[in-house]
Amino acid sequence: MSEPSGFRAEVRAWLAATQGPEGLHDYGPTPQAGDVPTGRAWQALLAEAGYACLHWPEQWGGRDASVADQAAFAEEAARADVPRQLSIVGPDLVGPVLMAYGSELQKSAYLPSIRTGEHLWCQLFSEPDAGSDLASVRTRARETPEGWVVDGQKVWTSGGVGSDFGILLARTGGSGHAGLSMFVVSMDTPGIEVRPLRQMDGESKFNEVYFTGAVLPLDALIGAEGQGWKVATTTLGRERLSLGANSVEMFRALEHLVAAAESRGRLGASLRASVSELWVRVWLLRTTWERAIAEGAEPGDASFSVLKLMTAETQRAIGDLGIEALGPDALASEQDEPLVQRMLVSHAQTILGGTSEIQRNILAERILGLPREPSPRA
Ligand SMILES: Cc1cc2nc3c(=O)[nH]c(=O)nc-3n(C[C@H](O)[C@H](O)[C@H](O)COP(=O)(O)OP(=O)(O)OC[C@H]3O[C@@H](n4cnc5c(N)ncnc54)[C@H](O)[C@@H]3O)c2cc1C
Repeated sequence: MSEPSGFRAEVRAWLAATQGPEGLHDYGPTPQAGDVPTGRAWQALLAEAGYACLHWPEQWGGRDASVADQAAFAEEAARADVPRQLSIVGPDLVGPVLMAYGSELQKSAYLPSIRTGEHLWCQLFSEPDAGSDLASVRTRARETPEGWVVDGQKVWTSGGVGSDFGILLARTGGSGHAGLSMFVVSMDTPGIEVRPLRQMDGESKFNEVYFTGAVLPLDALIGAEGQGWKVATTTLGRERLSLGANSVEMFRALEHLVAAAESRGRLGASLRASVSELWVRVWLLRTTWERAIAEGAEPGDASFSVLKLMTAETQRAIGDLGIEALGPDALASEQDEPLVQRMLVSHAQTILGGTSEIQRNILAERILGLPREPSPRA
């Protein structure tokens, strides 16, 4: 591969010369509770060096970076096995929302501490009966003279334990999109209970969050009442920027898989053929991603949905192949736990940030021009 130039070269050199906090590793888009202290220290280093919140305007400490530069940073961070930021939620979801819809008071209260990593945020959108169909959210916020009184339940809240603030989608009016509003929530508000969920991979990144008469200040509303859906859609799509970083990680996983199979004498013709096919798929993915960026695609564009779909399905195929490479050891070997872990986590990739089925719907409707999916509420 040719030597990098421009911003990518600058980032690679900085990453090589910079000593991160002890124990730092690429933990993905959201830290586990145990990763939060190192993640915070890393975010502070990024902020000091001018590599935090690259896409933010200079006014708020960002660099107004192009999608290509943001993607190059994500990929170089993955190469160096460090996270590209403390967590995806504050810098990528909340920051742009506050800049677009927040009051001046909200911007100055929250943006600086997101950039430096002082405050960690979580996303309180999904509910037991509102995931893909987010407009079915039932958690209710009632306006009273004392503030907004919130009752309801959220689920799948990544990083809920350890978060200082959350961005909450709640119902303030009637059914459907128009009845939704967005709020800033201080997670230590009385009446909020965070309950960790234990996942099948042994981690506990997810949480249930219960609201029982939690009172939020009246100025916790982001934008206008009933504008929640518009605000929520601003947050969707940005995670697709990590796709290039994912390809670095997928190539690494394939190398690990080959080594594991070889050491067990399991690298037969069938496994070789499957590995080669997946290697080509990852190259195609990376090239398509580079082309989308070169053509000026933005994170919310349908082309990124196609890439999200291709990436998630390829990650899942690599995860499943890892188990074939390990054979019976997959059940017993501590040493190859990362491959087993990968197989388990790869299933989540086809769900988070919009499931594969939803990406296929977007592809069908927005790219192929097929008839729209009937609304579940029609
Ligand atoms: C790793 C991970 C992290 C997450 N982090 C957060 C977080 O921090 N905060 C948060 O709020 N949420 C989070 N989520 C939740 C995530 O947004 C939802 O899981 C996702 O939107 C799907 O919703 P659901 O689980 O309710 O499934 P459902 O929406 O109930 O879907 C169930 C199945 O039906 C399919 N389906 C649904 N609708 C359609 C349709 N119209 N056409 C075809 N098929 C359909 C789906 O594809 C899926 O296979 C996270 C999820 C994961 C896996």
